[in-house]
Amino acid sequence: MKLTNFVNGQWQQTEQAEFRPVLNPANGEELAQVRMSTEQDVDLAVQAALKAQKKWANVPAPKRAAYLYEIGRLMKERKEQLAQVLTKEMGKVIEEGRGEVQEGIDMAYYMAGEGRRLFGETTPSELADKFAMSIRSPIGVVGLITPWNFPVAIATWKSFPAIVAGNTFVWKPATETPMMAYEMAKIFEEAGLPEGVANIVFGSGQEVGTALIEHQGVRVISFTGSTETGRKVAEAGGRNLKKVSLEMGGKNAVIVMEDADLDLAVEGILWSAFGTAGQRCTACSRVIVHAGVKEELQKRLLSKMEALTIGDGMDESVKVGPVINRQALEKIHSYIEVGRQEGATLLVGGEILTGGIYDKGNYYAPTLFTDVKPDMRIAQEEIFGPVVSIIEVSSFEEAIDVNNGVIYGLSSSIYTADVNRAFKAQRDLDTGIVYINAGTTGAEIHLPFGGTKGTGNGHRDSGVAALDVFTEWKSVYIDYSGKLQRAQIDNDI
Ligand code: NAD
Repeated sequence: MKLTNFVNGQWQQTEQAEFRPVLNPANGEELAQVRMSTEQDVDLAVQAALKAQKKWANVPAPKRAAYLYEIGRLMKERKEQLAQVLTKEMGKVIEEGRGEVQEGIDMAYYMAGEGRRLFGETTPSELADKFAMSIRSPIGVVGLITPWNFPVAIATWKSFPAIVAGNTFVWKPATETPMMAYEMAKIFEEAGLPEGVANIVFGSGQEVGTALIEHQGVRVISFTGSTETGRKVAEAGGRNLKKVSLEMGGKNAVIVMEDADLDLAVEGILWSAFGTAGQRCTACSRVIVHAGVKEELQKRLLSKMEALTIGDGMDESVKVGPVINRQALEKIHSYIEVGRQEGATLLVGGEILTGGIYDKGNYYAPTLFTDVKPDMRIAQEEIFGPVVSIIEVSSFEEAIDVNNGVIYGLSSSIYTADVNRAFKAQRDLDTGIVYINAGTTGAEIHLPFGGTKGTGNGHRDSGVAALDVFTEWKSVYIDYSGKLQRAQIDNDI
């Protein structure tokens, strides 16, 4: 199967284009070939989006929303098929694949509901016979750049609010996971979205991503990916005076206090650390544990880790799937030596799995380090794999400081039975998302999603907050006095 761009409601011709194979990380099988597009392809897509945008902005918002209801319905109808495509190209286990598709369905219905809200404000004017209001206006053409770890959910967090607000978009999916974008293009087509509203251009970040950011016809860039790439996107976007929304890396922690329900904490850590093979932006990669329960927590965690089944995510009994590619496998593995040299103790894992199916795919053993100090590289840098560091602390205050002592600020969690501590924690944890007595993952689509510090630049995906990225506030004054009234001058307040 050859995946080609979806532009202006058409599937682009493929002659003379360069293609790259899409591989199943579980077994190395070639699933498809994806087009590696050029700057000219980006220009074509942006021109189509520009042409469509004015007309689309004038379609009543509830009618724009009706397309989203249809997109949600089609996704729901195809949930199982979409989940299977997702698991094959990305590797996460099928149960999580279904969950991710469900996230997209939820987002479609939620944002469709916004089509009948998109509230602005009316407010009294300081002058007589004058009316004042603020309304949300669409911005224009938006560029969406997404990572491989959530090939569909993240795209829906961005594209659905963008279109319900009256923008059109050009989406560049990650090179590793274009198949979900292709499936979504088919759904956009079938839902009857007017041509040019949704455009998808496949290709590398270097060529297609850069061209999208530099294109003068694109007014907003919504990016999710690594902090390293995000910095480049911000620089180029800043130079071009674009609105740039960034969701980037994480180094998330679960804090376990001495009064915690340890079995519950272990379950939360396992799910947060090893789900999606540790490749979630919200994955738990640090466990900050009170000295009083450290040994016991470690013991229980180790025994549960032994029971984790690792393999092809299409197998319903598997709990941990492969990592995305060979390069990721090697990057993860390089941190084992880093940890050892820094003086951490490797309790389990720390190896690339081999033999049988493992030889064909990219499998890493769930790994646990202990005796980790907060400033070690393994406790500071995003490893993005199934590797967890245990850090011992002796007080609640120290736990908060350790949690906050990284450049990232996406998600954090605390297990405690003390309600006062729980409230202090939600106030003091410097992350965009905080969980009490739950792991670091599990975001729901109607709440804002994003992080502080090196994770973000103040914007949010998901929830109503996403509309702020894709709309401008317009203030409208209507003077019905029939005379010149000067604000701040012609009133006697
Ligand atoms: P990445 O930064 O390598 O790539 C992300 C996207 O940017 C891809 O589509 C890529 O092709 C594109 N890109 C690469 N170089 C580019 C450039 N110079 N200009 C424009 N675009 C470019 O990230 P990844 O490896 O795909 O994803 C993993 C990262 O994403 C992790 O750091 C993870 O924490 C982060 N992430 C963050 C969130 C969040 O919401 N905070 C969610 C998921 C993933």
